[in-house]
This record gives sequence, C-alpha cells and structure tokens, in this order.
Amino acid sequence: MKAAVCYEFGRPLTIEELEIDPLQKGEVKVRLAATAICHSDLHALNGEGSACVPFVAGHEGAGVVEEVGEGVSLTKPGDRVVVCLMRSCGRCFYCTLGLPHLCEGDFALNRESRLRNRRGQVVHQGLRTAAFAEYCIVDQSQVVRVPETLPFDRAALLACGVITGLGAVVNTARVEAGSSVVVIGTGGVGLNAIQGAVLAGAYPIIAIDLLDNKLEAARGFGATHLINGAEQKNTEQAVKGLTSGRGADYVFVTVGSATAVAQALTLTRKRGSLILVGMPAPGATASFQINSCVRGEQRIMGSFMGSTRLSLSVPRLVDLYQHGRLKLDELITARYPLERINEALEAVEKGQALRNVIIFDSES
Ligand SMILES: [Zn+2]
Ligand SMILES: [Zn+2]
Repeated sequence: MKAAVCYEFGRPLTIEELEIDPLQKGEVKVRLAATAICHSDLHALNGEGSACVPFVAGHEGAGVVEEVGEGVSLTKPGDRVVVCLMRSCGRCFYCTLGLPHLCEGDFALNRESRLRNRRGQVVHQGLRTAAFAEYCIVDQSQVVRVPETLPFDRAALLACGVITGLGAVVNTARVEAGSSVVVIGTGGVGLNAIQGAVLAGAYPIIAIDLLDNKLEAARGFGATHLINGAEQKNTEQAVKGLTSGRGADYVFVTVGSATAVAQALTLTRKRGSLILVGMPAPGATASFQINSCVRGEQRIMGSFMGSTRLSLSVPRLVDLYQHGRLKLDELITARYPLERINEALEAVEKGQALRNVIIFDSES
C-alpha cells in the first residue's frame, strides 16, 4: 500500500509502498478514504512528540473496515468507520470508571508496528494510527461505525479536532446553560469549543485570538464577542467588561501556549474553571499567582481528547451534524490526494488552513 513516510523530522514525507503484517488479536484493518491533518501531526513530524523515525503520521481518519483479526466483536468488514487514536481495553480502572480516554490497558500495538518498508525496516505507526496511508491497522476500540449518509471527509473530522474542542466544553467542563465562556485560540479545536459552548447554551461566548480572519471564523461558529489579543492591550478588562466585572465562568485555552495559560487565569472568575486543552511542547510549565487562585477558589483542569467516550459521542455528533446543529463542512479548507500531502502539510503549518483533508479515492 502507498503511505507517506517521515524518515527525518522536519523534512518532506516520502510517498512509498509499505508492507502490512497480518492482523493480531483484537485488531482491524481499515481502508482509508479520508484523513484530516491536525496540528498534532505537524508536532510529531517536526520531532516535538514521542515518535521515532521512520514513521507514518495521521490520526484523523475515516474509511471502510477491510478485515478483522481474531476476537473482534465491535466491528466487521464493510463497516464505514471513523478511526481515532484513542484505544481502550474496557476492563481497566479508568475504563470501568467510564473514562476510556484515560485507559491504562496494555496493547501489543503500544510496542509493535504492523508496517515495514520494502527494505524490511520497521516503520512505526505514529499517533497510534498511521493514517497518512491507504490502510491502517488499529485496535477495534479505535473505530466507531458511522452511517453511509455521512461523507468520509466530514467523518474524519470527528476523530480528533471536533471531539477535543466540543468535548472539553460538554464532557470535561460540563458547561451549564447561561454560563459565560471564553475560548482562547480559534483554530480547529477552538472553533469546536465555541460550537460546544453554543450547544451548551452559554452566553456570552468570547473568542480571543491574534488574527482577525480567525476571529471572523469564530463568529461563524457562534462566538458572540471577539477580542483581538494583539490589538486589545487589556484583555482582562475587556473580558471583565463582558462578564459583570467578574471574569468568565469557564475559560478554555485551546492553544499550546504557556503564556496564554497564565493569562487565562486572570480572565476566570472566582469559583470559575480554567480548562487546558491545547498541548504545548513536552515539559512546558506555566506560572500563576497562587494566592488569587486560592482566595478565588479557581479550578484548573486538563481536558484530553475532550474526555470523549467514542462509541457514545460519535453517533451523537453525526446526528447533530445531519440535523444542522453541528458545523463540519466549514472546517474543511481543502482536499488533497496523498501524492500532494507535503503541500497540504505546509499550508497547515503556515496557518492557511483549518483542516486540510487527504482523500484516498474518488468516493467521498
Ligand atoms: Zn488531532
Ligand atoms: Zn482500559
């Protein structure tokens, strides 16, 4: 099969033929139809993640199950599925608590790759998926069935960006109707946090970014107020002016910036919650005033993959999309064939795209 392989961090990917090993117990092989490009892919390809070269990135996929290994009961060949990087065992402490996104189960795929190149060298499966390829092998818990009426390019978005942003609001923070919400960063994840806030019935929904064109997109997704952090010198005052002088009930940081995290706490009211969604470089730290956090009883929480339970959330999101309550079409900037993936990656790197999607065949 054809795949886009990273042999050296920060260099263009090599499109080449890879061999796929047989499926092991619990694993499924998916023929990919679409894979969206996410910033986490760029981080991995630039060597800012835990990936080892050579590897194949890509983790927002959708396609058709081609083959299933021994013991697979959650899906069958022919199913149209979303492919996600989260895998869960269903039996560990966190799975039992209903938090499969924090699963601590052991999987052979955590250590092994089913891919090798024509020289026999192991090619690692980056981001637990390796979806910049015609096929991927993942654990059965990583796929969720979607209806035939949902186009694959739209389905792929449900694998990561949408659930991360929307889930942070709806699942992690559980924002109540009428709450005030600030979203810092209006990229793919931030826009989905905004549409999560709309679904939750929040008001006001204040979007903060440094670029006017990204803020305009935020308005389209339901932001009620826009603050350009580069032009507005006193963001704290601006937010307090919109929240009865107190600060917001919920502040979501969707950018991977330590400075933004420190600033975000000044925008959060007493007893308000600061939710960290964006991933900075590994080892990044932020500093903040402990006293005001204590006195104000502020809550700080992380949100990983929107605390999403895939098998529950994906069908609900499909329903919302099909009934006009969730925007997906507007998230796609452009579609590219695998052969032009380097162009597609470069546009995302330059901030020219919300989501660029790799399309593997003419069927959409
Ligand atoms: Zn992602
Ligand atoms: Zn588990």
